[in-house]
Amino acid sequence: HSKQNGKNQFSCYKPYYQTEFNRRFNIQNEIKNIIKEETFRLFYQPIYSTQTETIVGFEALIRWPEMDEMFTPDEFIPVAEECGLISELGKWIISTAVQQVALWRENFKLSLTIAVNISPVQLQDKNLLPHLIDTVKKNGVPSDSITLEITETALFKDSEKITETLRQLSQHGFKIALDDFGMGYSSIAHLIEYPIDIVKLDRSMQSFVDDGCKRYKVLESLAYMLNKLDLTIVAEGIETESQSSLCKQLNLDYKQGFLLSRPLPVDQIDAMLASPSLS
Ligand code: C2E
Ligand code: MG
Ligand code: MG
Ligand code: MG
Repeated sequence: HSKQNGKNQFSCYKPYYQTEFNRRFNIQNEIKNIIKEETFRLFYQPIYSTQTETIVGFEALIRWPEMDEMFTPDEFIPVAEECGLISELGKWIISTAVQQVALWRENFKLSLTIAVNISPVQLQDKNLLPHLIDTVKKNGVPSDSITLEITETALFKDSEKITETLRQLSQHGFKIALDDFGMGYSSIAHLIEYPIDIVKLDRSMQSFVDDGCKRYKVLESLAYMLNKLDLTIVAEGIETESQSSLCKQLNLDYKQGFLLSRPLPVDQIDAMLASPSLS
């Protein structure tokens, strides 16, 4: 009855935090099972060269298994981080994605790259580097075909330790991308302080494109600065033709977004790579 009487003060018999707690607890248990059953899936979103309009690589994006209740990565990744499951899950993500790109490189004779999202917790795990080294060796792919996408939240933790970790990853040839740049805490200091190779412009910045005035000038100047710093620039969230064509004008190296392709399962990427229009 309580649910029907929205305005009744007794209707709120379950405090928010408790339902939130239960929800998280349930997701947590499900994640454990799904890891055990190995039924998480990776989708791959193509990344295109702005110059040639061809696929240069992919970003691996995790997907909840197909079941009644589906969670998005934004919902379950934070839970996996909090309950200490992200390192194990992250390990699986790296192995699977690297193995997949090795297959595509071999089957289609293309020097494709793979970008993997690395959570801040994973970046602090000392097993990350050995696992990456082991994985590229096992699959026979060059480490510079692997991009590690990190967000700025990872850079606030313990800056000296993070610098050292990133430096080691870099020394081994792995590419470091700063994800979602232009959102929230984006700081130019990060671009100077850390060994970053690639900057991914957050998709919220795409709204700057059609703006025409002040915000467009910010985007234009930002692109100019990032180019000056010899950073590789990826435009995320390309949804319109005007956004897509502007990438070339602003000298952005790569582009990614629903207009070009959504994240897709392996078989659909296979079909895409097999299509002759690519080569
Ligand atoms: P992200 O790394 O910034 O990934 C890009 C997100 O934008 C993806 O959402 C992708 O599906 C979506 N996207 C791509 N193009 C467009 C577009 O044109 N328009 C719009 N509106 N969206 C677009 P997704 O897959 O739901 O992932 C959300 C976030 O969850 C990711 O943001 C990343 O932070 C995290 N995530 C996803 N997969 C993984 C993973 O394997 N490991 C970790 N640690 N985090 C992951
Ligand atoms: Mg990403
Ligand atoms: Mg992003
Ligand atoms: Mg994001």
